[in-house]
Amino acid sequence: MMKICVRCLYNTTIPKITFNSEGLCNYCQQYDAMDLQYPTNELGKKSIDDYVAKMKEDGKGKKYDVVIGISGGCDSSYMLHLAKKVYGLRVLAAHFDNTFNSKIAVENIHNMVTKLNIDLYTHVVDNNEYQQVMRSFFKASVPEIDAPTDLGFATMLYIACSKYGVKHIWEGHSFRTEGITPPGWVYMDAKYITSIYKMFGNGKPLKTLPLLYLHKWIYWMVVKGIKKYRPLYYLPYNKEETKKFLANEYGWQWYGGHHMENRTAYFANNYFLPKKFGIDLRMCEFSGLVRSGQMSKDQALKEISVPKPIDKSIEDEIRTRCSFTEEEWEQIWKMPQKHYTDYPTYKRTFERWRWLFFILYKKGYVNRSFYDKFCVMKEEKLNTKHEK
Ligand SMILES: [Zn+2]
Repeated sequence: MMKICVRCLYNTTIPKITFNSEGLCNYCQQYDAMDLQYPTNELGKKSIDDYVAKMKEDGKGKKYDVVIGISGGCDSSYMLHLAKKVYGLRVLAAHFDNTFNSKIAVENIHNMVTKLNIDLYTHVVDNNEYQQVMRSFFKASVPEIDAPTDLGFATMLYIACSKYGVKHIWEGHSFRTEGITPPGWVYMDAKYITSIYKMFGNGKPLKTLPLLYLHKWIYWMVVKGIKKYRPLYYLPYNKEETKKFLANEYGWQWYGGHHMENRTAYFANNYFLPKKFGIDLRMCEFSGLVRSGQMSKDQALKEISVPKPIDKSIEDEIRTRCSFTEEEWEQIWKMPQKHYTDYPTYKRTFERWRWLFFILYKKGYVNRSFYDKFCVMKEEKLNTKHEK
C-alpha cells in the first residue's frame, strides 16, 4: 500500500522514508528542524549582517569579497543582486560552461553581470572531453549523468577563489524552495567521476574538467580558508516573486523549470532520471514549496501528475555528441540500473573522516547537508536500487 505524508508529496517510493504517529514524514520533520535552525526573522537578518561584516573584513586588500557561481537560473541570478545591491559586497561571478548552455541561460548571465557591473570568470570545458565523460556515465548505467557538471561547477568556484585570494563562496541553495533530496538518489564526488571515466572512457587524461579531488578540496578549505555560505537559508525567499522581480529589474527570462537552463540538466531531469530510474526531482522541489507554503499540495499533486515535457532535439543532440548510434542508445535504456555504490567513490573515506568534516562543518567550510549525507549516513544503508 502506498502511503503519502500528511503534509508533503513524499510517499513510500522515497528511500529512507518513515512516518511519525501523525503521519508526518521524516523529511518534513527534518524541514521543521532546519526551519528552526535557520530562522528568517530578525535573528536570521542579524546572522547575515554579522557574516557580511566578517566577509568585508576578510576582503580588505583584495579585489573581491565573494565568489558566486552563476548558471543563469533564478537562484544564482538573485544571489548576484542580493550580494551586490543589498549587502554591498564586491562580487566575482563565476560560470562553468559544459558547452550545453541554453540560449536563455547565456542571455541571463550576460544581462545580470552587465546590469550589475560585476566581473565574470568563466571556465569552459573542452567539448570532446566533456562528451566522453558523459558517454562513460551513460555506459555505467547510473543516474548521475549530470554530476560532472555539478562537480565541475563546484570546483571552479574554489579555483576562482584561489586565483583572486577570495575566502567566501555564496551558494544559492534554499531548502525551502528546493526541498530535501532523499539520500541515495543522486551522488557525486571526484573519485566517482574518475573511476567511471577510467572504466568506460576513451583513456585520454582529463585536462579541462575541474574536479574536487579530496587533497585539493582540503587544501582549499584548510590552507586557503575558503568557506561556503547559504544566505537564502536566513531570508524569506519566494521563488515566484523572485522570478518576477528579476524579470522586471534585469530583463531576466524564465526557462520553464528548476535546473532547466542547461540542456544536459534538462535531459537528465526531464527525461533520463524519470524514464530510466523512476526519479522525478520535482518531488523534492514541490515538496519543499508545499512545506514552505509557496504551493498548495493539491496544485503540486496536479502538476506532478503531468509528465515533464521532453524536447526530442535535445535527446538527439546528446546521443550524437556522446557518439552513440541509435542501436547503442536503445541499449543504454535497457541496461540494468546501477548505483554509485557499485563503483569506487570517496564515500567510505568521508565516513572515516567524519570527525574532520564535523570540524569543517562547524567552522563553516562545508555545509550541513554534506556532512549528514556523505559522512554520517553509512554507504551500505544507501544502496537503494530505484523502483520504477
Ligand atoms: Zn512530508
